Amino acid sequence: MPGTTADPPFRPQVPAELWDDWRWHMRKRITTIARARQWLRLSADEEKAIAGSAGRYRWSITPYYASLMDPDDPSCPVRMQAVPAPAELEEFPGAEVDPVGDMTYRRTNRVVHKYPDRVILLVTEACPVYCRHCTRKFHTTDVDGTYFRDDEGGSFDEDLRYIAAHPEIRDVLLTGGDPLSYPDGRLEEIVAGLRAIPSVEIIRIGTRFPVLLPQRITEDLCAMLARHHPVWLNTHFNHPKEITADAARAVDRLLRHGIPVGNQTVLLRGVNDDVATMRTLMTELLRVRVRPYYLYHCDNVTGVSHFMTSVEKGWEIMEGLQGHITGFGVPQYVLTTEIGKIPVTRPYFTRTPDGLLLRNHHGQELAVGGPGHPITESDAR
Ligand SMILES: *Cc1c(COP(=O)(O)O)cnc(C)c1O
Ligand code: SF4
Repeated sequence: MPGTTADPPFRPQVPAELWDDWRWHMRKRITTIARARQWLRLSADEEKAIAGSAGRYRWSITPYYASLMDPDDPSCPVRMQAVPAPAELEEFPGAEVDPVGDMTYRRTNRVVHKYPDRVILLVTEACPVYCRHCTRKFHTTDVDGTYFRDDEGGSFDEDLRYIAAHPEIRDVLLTGGDPLSYPDGRLEEIVAGLRAIPSVEIIRIGTRFPVLLPQRITEDLCAMLARHHPVWLNTHFNHPKEITADAARAVDRLLRHGIPVGNQTVLLRGVNDDVATMRTLMTELLRVRVRPYYLYHCDNVTGVSHFMTSVEKGWEIMEGLQGHITGFGVPQYVLTTEIGKIPVTRPYFTRTPDGLLLRNHHGQELAVGGPGHPITESDAR
């Protein structure tokens, strides 16, 4: 049990019945330097960044997530995702609060309708941990950057009416913030409201609770979601250290209730920007039966830019995955823009005058096609 036996004097001893209760972790979230010092030897830079980001970015860490961190190493990949760094307060060229333009696609207080057949529903701005690299940093972690015109506990009626009035919407993705921050009862009202709309075929939950606080994935929650199938869930593992026994148990519980679990990783400088880490992450995800879905290039969001890598780094990682690990362990590498998510993996073929030149994961080349071959000429017939 992480955190219960780890080396004193740093880590509080926590009885198992509390450690296993997600509400205890939510109540005991770390939000002060003094509390953080119970778990970590904070560096001077970290303390400076925590103090400097006060009043600007929200900051909170569940004891569970803190227990995964190296108490002595500020460059621990788990720690870097949750403990502020001085670079968050620097200005980077081109950084914006909403570089992907989601807010221009907002049709109601909570509905973002950017793609023809699917929408995101912004449930809440609350998260168990405020990830330093959050792509919606302005909305979830900026203390003034609220999504919601009304207070966020407000009615979902207008949003559900919009979805019902647009029968082309087949797929609704609950996000935020983290929708599982809501208690089960409130969440069920929303999910049942969506399920009552005949044109809504699938409901998706985007949540980082399996990573930040897997205890939230209770039997009751899973049974509730399973009453409204088909429900899919995507989570957000960024590093193999996050795939713990607790996380694996949460995933198993979701799967046993028929909820497929996918993963969206963000490519983050210093956290997971090397082939070996990503290979381990993807293969460990498969081992716990999570399907890698997207690898996001990190967006140039204000306060997040220091996590960005080049696209060439992303290519190097994708080429270190493709062909080297099981095909369904390879996520799609995408860059999110105001015109949508764009696949940016370097192609594995080039057109030649009468065919294709293919390249494999060892760099070997193979020409296919030739005069009259259907791969080049079938359209002409
Ligand atoms: C990513 C995203 C979706 C879902 O897209 P998929 O590619 O189907 O996962 C929907 N709406 C918005 C605004 C998005 O950014
Ligand atoms: S849980 Fe998701 S929405 Fe919340 S801060 Fe982390 S990345 Fe952002």
